Amino acid sequence: MDYARILAEIAEEVRPLVGQGRTADYIPPLADVPRDRFGMVLRTVGNEAYSVGHAQERFSIQSIAKVFSLTLATRLEGDAVWERVSREPSGTAFNSLVQLEVERGIPRNPFLNAGALVVLDMVLSHQREGEDLVLDFVRRAGANPAVGYDPVVAAAERATGHRNRALAHFLKSFGNLRNDPDRVLDAYFLLCSIAMSCSELASAFQYLATGGLAADGEEVATARQVKRVNAVMLTCGVYDEAGDYAYRVGLPAKSGVGGGVVAVMPGRFVTAVWSPCLSEKGNSLAGTMALELLTTKTALSVF
Ligand code: GLU
Repeated sequence: MDYARILAEIAEEVRPLVGQGRTADYIPPLADVPRDRFGMVLRTVGNEAYSVGHAQERFSIQSIAKVFSLTLATRLEGDAVWERVSREPSGTAFNSLVQLEVERGIPRNPFLNAGALVVLDMVLSHQREGEDLVLDFVRRAGANPAVGYDPVVAAAERATGHRNRALAHFLKSFGNLRNDPDRVLDAYFLLCSIAMSCSELASAFQYLATGGLAADGEEVATARQVKRVNAVMLTCGVYDEAGDYAYRVGLPAKSGVGGGVVAVMPGRFVTAVWSPCLSEKGNSLAGTMALELLTTKTALSVF
């Protein structure tokens, strides 16, 4: 497969879409990201990497990081994770409070903000003073100790995160947080602020294409855990657009409001794409088109 040529074609074909749509403006630093950015990396399970555009530029990965915390929680808690969070698409906004009231504090899935808060609460129950289990996991998964938080984005999350604060206290009222809500929120705001490039993301997600082996060969998840996480990405990973993604792209994927999307072709490759302007549903407009073109041109998808 000539991935280098395919990526070059994709970059050319999505060009008219780059800059269309809106950047996420409810977190101020995200609104200021240059609108003309487009980067894409494809990394095979054989460790070959192909890239195009702004593939080495770091951006705010936002909700993409929820995949790391979910994987870690399934390692720490096993199937008990699913006693406190469901795994169904929600059909509601990622930060909605309504469903949580009706469903008595059990978030519909781990990629909604409420679900991610519960997942982080599980992780924090295993974390000792001075440790940062999630960041440690991200660094191990990508064999990349340089990955870290963006303090400007983290501060903006803290300053504007009123709805997330409401969700955390709401969860606590249902007994579905064990830790102090402020401790969980602090971990959540940091989680959303992780900055990575497409290149770094593709490496860090490698374990989802290899049955659990990280970029340097370390086992960071079991094959069973990988199967589960990919399944939840396919059904719940792209906000309220999972059906359209399955139809157009046909790969498990996770997006974030920073305009990044990571998609996995198990046994073959991981791809990470970034372009900051979003569709109405909150997914990168050019990024989604790039993924659709990739699976069309390669004739590779999980279907
Ligand atoms: N920090 C964002 C929030 O909590 C995450 C949004 C996202 O990427 O889905 O609202």
